[in-house]
Amino acid sequence: MLVGSIEAGGTKFVCAVGNGDYQVKDQVRIPTTTPAETLKRTADYFKRHPVSAIGVASFGPIEIRQNSSKYGFITKTPKPGWQDTDFVGYLKRELDVPIFFTTDVNGSAYGEYVMSTLSNEKIDSLVYYTIGTGVGGGAVVNGQLLGAIGHPEMGHVLLKRHPDDLDFPGVCPFHGDCLEGLVSGPTFEARLNRPGEDVPFSHPVWNILSYYVAQAALQVTLELRPNKIIFGGGVSSEKFLQKVRRDFAKLLNGYVEVPGLERYLTMPEIPNNGSATVGNFAMAAKLLRE
Ligand code: ZN
Repeated sequence: MLVGSIEAGGTKFVCAVGNGDYQVKDQVRIPTTTPAETLKRTADYFKRHPVSAIGVASFGPIEIRQNSSKYGFITKTPKPGWQDTDFVGYLKRELDVPIFFTTDVNGSAYGEYVMSTLSNEKIDSLVYYTIGTGVGGGAVVNGQLLGAIGHPEMGHVLLKRHPDDLDFPGVCPFHGDCLEGLVSGPTFEARLNRPGEDVPFSHPVWNILSYYVAQAALQVTLELRPNKIIFGGGVSSEKFLQKVRRDFAKLLNGYVEVPGLERYLTMPEIPNNGSATVGNFAMAAKLLRE
């Protein structure tokens, strides 16, 4: 049995074909241009590489309520040209296979969850944050994705401001200084006029970012009590997580018991940004089983 994965990002679509063990058999990267062109190239790929079902993890916001007339749409995205795009409807018409549609971070969270069930780790709850061009978070609790009237939007929570960062207004077009507005990749340009990859870890801005990310980790720890919290995306790195763990330990202040922080606040287990692809394969396979 072959299953498909579409990881729909703001700069590229990664389409892949996998087998029942979630191994990638073929993969292609399609640049994200207009919806018409990008979706046509995506459908053409799966016409050449037929699969029995497809899992889609998309940038958002997206409509995931099955009873909505806009189910399967990308909705209010700031990405030019992509507002109100009928993503699932187009693929269904072109490919006629079952499609599971979720957010990019939910796909990644589910991939990491599935991987843990295949390893000795066998955890049943985790949170996955991506910290990159935007910030988002997805959660698996007792093996299920969270969210009823929509998907979680953990990137837009409000935080206590760092005392050395009070003048920075943040970059979120909706909230200014929400988590995304304070720690996403574009905040480096906004604060320092240079990209994050040019800012050494000795720079104090990393302590400001780690304070905010640690607060997000604290909140989700207290709200969901997951087995672990994973950080992906271009801003995340092991060096950055060392700072986050330090700040998290201070903020938690021993209030509840959590696993060792090296294991609790961690990078993805699946290498090369592959979490969402595994998650998509697994969700497609789950659709076929149901
Ligand atoms: Zn926001």
